[in-house]
Parts: sequence; C-alpha cells; structure tokens
Amino acid sequence: MPRFYLTTAIDYSNGDPHLGHAIEKIGADVIARYRRACGDDVHFLIGMDEHGQKVQQEAEKNGLDPQTWVDRIAESFLEVWDRLGLSNDDFIRTSEPRHHRGLTALMERIAANGDFRRATYEGHYCAGCEAFKKEEDLTDGRCPLHPGREVDWTKEENWFFRLSDYGDALLGRLRDDPGGVRPRTRRNEITRLLEGGLEDISASRSRIRWGVPFPGDEGHTVYVWFDALSNYITAIGYPDGDGFETFWPADLHIIGKDITRFHCVYWPAMLMAAGVEPAKSVWGHGFITIGGFKLSKSAGTELGLVELIERHGPDALRYFLMREVQWDGDRDFPSAEAFIEQFDRRYTTDLANDLGNLLNRVVSMVSRYRGGGVPSPGGGELAQRTALALAEYRKAMDGYLLHRGLEAAFDVVRAANGFVDETKPWALHKAERAGGGEDALDGVLAQLVAALGAIASMLAPFTPRKATEIWSALGGEGPPPRFADLDHAAGRLASVRPGAVLFPRA
Ligand SMILES: [Zn+2]
Repeated sequence: MPRFYLTTAIDYSNGDPHLGHAIEKIGADVIARYRRACGDDVHFLIGMDEHGQKVQQEAEKNGLDPQTWVDRIAESFLEVWDRLGLSNDDFIRTSEPRHHRGLTALMERIAANGDFRRATYEGHYCAGCEAFKKEEDLTDGRCPLHPGREVDWTKEENWFFRLSDYGDALLGRLRDDPGGVRPRTRRNEITRLLEGGLEDISASRSRIRWGVPFPGDEGHTVYVWFDALSNYITAIGYPDGDGFETFWPADLHIIGKDITRFHCVYWPAMLMAAGVEPAKSVWGHGFITIGGFKLSKSAGTELGLVELIERHGPDALRYFLMREVQWDGDRDFPSAEAFIEQFDRRYTTDLANDLGNLLNRVVSMVSRYRGGGVPSPGGGELAQRTALALAEYRKAMDGYLLHRGLEAAFDVVRAANGFVDETKPWALHKAERAGGGEDALDGVLAQLVAALGAIASMLAPFTPRKATEIWSALGGEGPPPRFADLDHAAGRLASVRPGAVLFPRA
C-alpha cells in the first residue's frame, strides 16, 4: 500500500484558533481523506508550536506559567478541530518530551557536522514573526507583516547555522525536481531567493528561557524556528523510531505562503546538515483576507470560528472555504459582512437547493415509482458525464487543486438536475402506466442514483458527514466507497432510504 505522510504548519500558541488556522487544516484534511480514498496508507500530522518569546510574553500577560498557558491553548484548538471533523492521526506539541528528545538529537547531528558557529548578532527582531529582520525588510521601521508592533533592537551572541553553505545544493534540488515547491509562484520566489545567495541564520537565542536548551550550551535555547520545523520528524519518532523509518521523507508539507522560506530553504538545509533526506514537496497555500487584511488574532475577529461552524454546521463551512478559496491563490472579501452573505448564499444555492434538492428528488422518485428499489445500473448520457467529471476530479485532486475538485463534483450535481428536467421521469412514469415499457424510467433512475453515488464519493473528503448521509439515503452502508470500489458498490445498492433533509434551510 503506498504511504502518504502529510503535515500542516503547527499553530503558534499565542491565542485561540481562528479562520486563518482553519482553512489550512481543512485543506490538509481534504487531501488526507482523498489519499485514503485512493487507497494510500496516510499519516496526517497537525500540532502546536509552543515555545518562543511571543508565547512566553502572552503567558505572562495572562498571569500564567508558559506550560499552563500552552496546555490551555492546545485544548481550545483540539476542541475546534474535533468539531470540524479533522481526521489527523497525530497531534504534536513542541513542549512534549518526544519532541524535546528528537530536536536535541537533530541539533547534535548538525553540530557534529560542523554547521554551527558562534557569532554576535546585532539588528532588528520581530517577535510577531519570531525572526530577525534586515533594514530592507522593514517598512517605516516596522515589520510589514506586523505593522501593529514595534521591532526590537537586539544584540546577542548566538549560535549560527551555516545556511550559506547549502544554497547550491538547494538550488540543485529545485532544478531537478520543480514539483518540490508548489504552486509555481512559490517556487519562483524560492528560486530568486536562492539565486540571490543565502546568509547564515541564528539557531539559538540567549535570552528566551521558554524553549529547548541548545545542546552543549545550556545558556541558550534552540531558536523557535529550528524547534518548530523539526516537529515533522520528532512526531514520528526521529531519530530511531519506527514511524520515522516508515513515513519519512514526508510526501507533503502544507503551509501558509508567508512561511515558504522557512520550509523550502531553512528546513531542507537543516535536514541535509543532519544527513536526513528533505521532504518530497511543500505546498504554500494562499490566504483569506478581509478588506485586504490577513486574518489574525486581531483582524477578522467578527468572524468567530465557533460561530461560523454553528451557523450551517461544520461540513457547510468546510465546503464554503474550499469552494471560495483557490487552493493555489488568495481570496479577498471586502468585509466580514460580505463573507457571511456569501456563506449564506452558497449554503442556500449550492447545498440546500442544488445538492439537497437533487438527493430529495431522486430518493422520492425511486420510492414513488419503484417502491424504493434501485434499478440495475446502466449507461447513458448522465453516466458518461459522471465518468468525465470523476476523471476531472481525480486530476485536480492529484494536483492539490481542491477548489477544482469541488467544481467537478458540482458539475455532476448540475448535470443530474438538468437530466431530471430533460428526461421528465414523472412523464415516463405516466407513459409506463399507460402501457409503455419500464426500461426508459429504469435507465433514468439508475443513472441518477449512480451519479449521486459518485457525488457522495467525490464530496467525502470535503464534507465527510454529509457525504455519508447521501450514501446512506441511496441505500449504502457506512461512508461512501473508495474510488476503486465505486462502480461495484453502486451496483449493489438495493433500496433507498427516504429521510432527513440533507441541508435544512436556514
Ligand atoms: Zn513580523
């Protein structure tokens, strides 16, 4: 069975989860579920980034010790991920002993390779990014990503990582395997960065206590980015665990586009320095912005994640985000109100009307005209369109263009609704009662049921609970079938189960 190890960026423990965190986890969950439906042995990792200056400050501000603070934040993230139905196999927290142990081993190996040196750093530090900033990185003396906070002037003696030694090797990797960094815009950005030459980077901090001690120099802690990035290997048991043997190198790191440099330059260089093969690929997704502003702890707070989940249910939110946000680009909403309006509109038109009505119509026609018995499957115009859309869907999903996968699934929804209007099963039924044959109506109903079966399988990664409800209404058991079993499973559907409304009107 092919293995597929998938990760997301771990979330920083400085506040509660918001929509910006959710979109990345939902997208990754869609990919994890899709790969499983393709038959892969998937390992899907998410987690929390719990060390560093910002966390320490936030804990102090709340009058708590850092561990108590991060425990509390982790709990609030886990609760929301559970409500959203994430199917992650593991949840790593960088304050865990397993992480501490693996990170120490990684740093020791990089040190043994001669890739750390002591030097004095003097310059700007943005605590928002937890990163050093050059003069040319700043706009009006502030970090463009964190205009609301001052950058600190820092002078400290640190351990530096000899990143500059790895530029050629990284560029070579990217040239040999252009798919290693996607989408293309992100790859171009990294190529330019590498061609411009790399500088060594700080690997330790001397003033931050909340972190993992730097091996061989207890006066320092490991710089939070070295700490955070290594979660992808420490979670699966680096250096000697079975999971590391089984799943590394990762197939895909899903990250926000603003941390591409860390994942496509620093991280592979760190691994090479430790004699570990870098991950196979990185996907930098875009962002939802509201009036041009990225969602953050402070922006877009009127779009509370829990309220959005409760508004139309978790699957509706998953659908909406994956439909609206191109997985290889950004999506701006002029305002929070515009976001909500569009959410309500898509819920009503796409989910309640187009999809919900289709299921309702088909199940009630099979009940009324055939006593609930599903006619044997056969070919025809709708069956052909379904097969084409399914191929389109697979192609889009294999290339992580999730929004296009959803479009393909809804092509079948539209085609099936059109097919009902064209073939007029009620008229066929009337003709049948007037003495005509049964073949025409059987063929129409069978194609409609098969189309809905395919829709259930295609939607399962996006809206897992609702897809199972569709499959159940068609007479299936359990979740919708994997793609390889779809025809066989659809052929075995015996009788429909009329029942609950799939998407009740708000
Ligand atoms: Zn910043």
